[in-house]
Amino acid sequence: MSDLLLEVRNLETFYGPIMAIRGVSLEVRKGRVVTVLGANGAGKTTLLKTISGIMDPEKGKIIFEGQEIQGWEPHRVVKAGIVHVPEGREVFPLLTVEENLALGAYTRSDKAEIARDRDLVFNYFPILAERRKQEAGTLSGGQQQMLAIGRGLMLRPKIMLLDEPSLGLSPLLTQEIFAILKRLNQDEGVTMMLVEQNAAVALDLADDGYVMELGRIVMSGTADRLAASEDIQSFYLGHD
Ligand code: ATP
Repeated sequence: MSDLLLEVRNLETFYGPIMAIRGVSLEVRKGRVVTVLGANGAGKTTLLKTISGIMDPEKGKIIFEGQEIQGWEPHRVVKAGIVHVPEGREVFPLLTVEENLALGAYTRSDKAEIARDRDLVFNYFPILAERRKQEAGTLSGGQQQMLAIGRGLMLRPKIMLLDEPSLGLSPLLTQEIFAILKRLNQDEGVTMMLVEQNAAVALDLADDGYVMELGRIVMSGTADRLAASEDIQSFYLGHD
């Protein structure tokens, strides 16, 4: 059996007359971490929104576990196992940490399993356990990012789409969150598609990568090969 989990073929997505995704194709294999790098405005967020059903593509296919899912409603995409952790965290600020996690499990009704998954989230993010009764809006930016990832985990994703988890975080917190993502991938087998402007941390975590510019994929390869490429080094890793 093929280990291909998600395949995007010749995808095109528009904002009115503006073509934000211009024929993107990519693949994510089961158990892998795939990163999509690119500058501000390259189309990374739009790509994730199209995969998760928040936006409809004009053309192209999104194939998940062998099934075409382009144009599906977001809730159906979630049920299929694709969970989007959006840019900017978007936790519910007036609800507690625990309540946010409970909402994460909204598609499920198996109480014992939900409690087990909540404990799993607390095991990976102990600070969330400490602050379980605290309103999410009072958490630091890094803790809110952890909560957003934790809430995504409550849906038992087959793949997590992570939009710029490093955004607005200190280098130290970014390292901490990426170390946890690595453990989630290695120990829990969560497949990830990670969109990032921070190429250094993303390539360090990822197995494979794509580079987007102006709505197109301009480069792809293993993360090691991309990290060694002169173009990536000068444009994305800040080397001379
Ligand atoms: P960022 O890092 O800022 O999220 P990105 O790579 O995710 O950047 P997108 O947000 O996907 O890029 O934007 C891709 C293109 O679509 C850009 O040219 C942007 O100006 C345009 N765009 C994004 N959102 C809208 C919108 N709501 N209406 C019109 N154009 C938009």
